[in-house]
Amino acid sequence: MGNLKEALLYLHDECNYSCEYCMLGGKFEKRKSLASSTDGFNKIVEFFNKHKGCHIFLTGGEPSVYEYFIELAQELTKNNFIRLDTNNSFSEETLQRFIKEINPEKVDFIQCSLHEIDEEETRLKEYIERVKRLQSRGFKCFISYVALPKRVNKIEELIRIMKKENIPFVVTPFRSPEYPKGYSKEERQEIYKFIYSATQRALFEIDERKPKGKECSAGYSRVNINCINGSIKKCWRSNERIGNIYEGTLKLNNSIERCNIDSCTYTYETHLDLEELVCKDLHNVISCKEKYDENIYKEYIKRSL
Ligand code: SF4
Ligand code: SF4
Repeated sequence: MGNLKEALLYLHDECNYSCEYCMLGGKFEKRKSLASSTDGFNKIVEFFNKHKGCHIFLTGGEPSVYEYFIELAQELTKNNFIRLDTNNSFSEETLQRFIKEINPEKVDFIQCSLHEIDEEETRLKEYIERVKRLQSRGFKCFISYVALPKRVNKIEELIRIMKKENIPFVVTPFRSPEYPKGYSKEERQEIYKFIYSATQRALFEIDERKPKGKECSAGYSRVNINCINGSIKKCWRSNERIGNIYEGTLKLNNSIERCNIDSCTYTYETHLDLEELVCKDLHNVISCKEKYDENIYKEYIKRSL
């Protein structure tokens, strides 16, 4: 039986922003998440107390607006590690509590997505201030920026600002049915200049990975959990249910299996021989490297196709 090491925890559909480019269409037909009840919260905590030493990626929706966000972070970091995908819109109270009550050594990284609403001058200053407060407490933060065609011309200035503030800044191509194929040649060239993440750059180049037939730790040591109904799948692209967090069930594979899915673009859920590259690349990004690692870039392409 596998040993759970990584889990993506999709907490809820709730968000305090409504970005037009949101994966959920910015419309949010909000499904009620079972995580919103104390019983649901307790079941999540109980589940991870049985799977100690796991790296749990909290995402949504916006995780910081989850009713029990701080309490969940507190509980999960007792026996596990968390990673956070947030829009960095923390209320003052939430930020203060997070900084005071959560051990930075139990947080792998905080990915702060910078959205259009926060690009206005005053809001941007406040946004940066929040990142710096997290950084000064020892949290590893980086800003990710979705390069929508209309935002491409802002990248250079934002990179200048973040460099001055010593905040890692990751440009990611926009993905939708039309993009990234729909970028003009000029937009592509502009984006390429500023993609310092080797894996993002490689994925932009090849558009999608072709994992079918490759060994993957999904379902063996990594799972994807949807807290809305509790269903556990091996990864985002899979339809097969392998457990339910509210029922405390999980059936991991006995060994690493081969992927049967044709294509995948998801950043952190990759087949086995890309995991090491993603990890190294993330380290480079968090270390504020300004040039992408060419070896990682080439290897990622080679191993993806
Ligand atoms: S902040 Fe994130 S989850 Fe919220 S609307 Fe924007 S893209 Fe969607
Ligand atoms: S390679 Fe990707 S799509 Fe295939 S099982 Fe692994 S995570 Fe899922």
